[in-house]
Amino acid sequence: MSNQVATVRTDWTRAEVEEIYSRGLLDLVNAAAHIHREFHDPTEIQMCQLISIKTGGCPEDCSYCSQSVHNESPVMVEPLMPLDEVLAVARRAKRNGVTRLCMGAAWREAKDNAQFERVLDMVRGVNDIGLEVCATLGMITPKQAERLAEAGLYAYNHNLDTSEEFYSEVITTRTYQDRLDTIEAVRTTDLTVCCGGIIGMGEGDSDRIGLLHRLATLDPHPESVPINVLAKYEGSKLESADEVDATETVRMVAVARILMPESVVRLSAGRDKMSESDQAMCFLAGANSIFSSERNMMLTSVSECADHATDKAMLASLGLRARD
Ligand code: SF4
Repeated sequence: MSNQVATVRTDWTRAEVEEIYSRGLLDLVNAAAHIHREFHDPTEIQMCQLISIKTGGCPEDCSYCSQSVHNESPVMVEPLMPLDEVLAVARRAKRNGVTRLCMGAAWREAKDNAQFERVLDMVRGVNDIGLEVCATLGMITPKQAERLAEAGLYAYNHNLDTSEEFYSEVITTRTYQDRLDTIEAVRTTDLTVCCGGIIGMGEGDSDRIGLLHRLATLDPHPESVPINVLAKYEGSKLESADEVDATETVRMVAVARILMPESVVRLSAGRDKMSESDQAMCFLAGANSIFSSERNMMLTSVSECADHATDKAMLASLGLRARD
């Protein structure tokens, strides 16, 4: 094995990303695995938990999302959760080995109102419990980002979802630039950025390459990069999109790992469709975080995820462990 240390770069050219993306899968995974071992403890997987603090009724038209008012969906609209309920979930999560709690609200943007104040209280409370706190509240201003940071937020999630070229096929109520502006607002603070994408929405390889290229040329890289596979559901505009083979997820993880060696790559929605050996390939290729849940549900309530005990058993069987 070479002793060469990979460098962290944000000046990747599209041609370089294309070349990496196009490699034979096992060569790609091998290269990614070496880089992963240079930058991370490969036996350690961070367990995160998602909690939908405000569900459904979102005015945005993201085609993939069961919480949009534009999509028929089985998801019931629920108001912003009470603070004590969120803290109870956070305490249980911590007892179950979770170290990061991601709180999602189905808002187009955060407004400066009593609900935002309650979210700030949630951030303070979850932080006091000793968990990394991540929030995803839609678009935010630099001032709101600052207030979240002061309350103890660790990360702000705002995904780029796909390539700029394909974006309008998926969402029409905001632009790619809106996304980049919010990420920039977050970067005016000490908050870390969680930013990734979704595959399986009918995009082509060039869109996946475009997404990875955009993420890898953000300066600095997002500290956290979730790779999601579309969770299809009946009535969704993307109901008939092609199934994603596990090897495609492995490829995305591996390329993300090579391009962004220091980032935590999170195997996110869609993991419920993967066998343990598929997931093992992703861990080999550099994924070092999973979402685990007590409710068997991911954020959008249409994608299941394994419960904590099942995940811990899987990690143990692979010689891995949950990060403390
Ligand atoms: S992904 Fe977020 S912004 Fe888009 S519809 Fe769903 S909740 Fe709203």
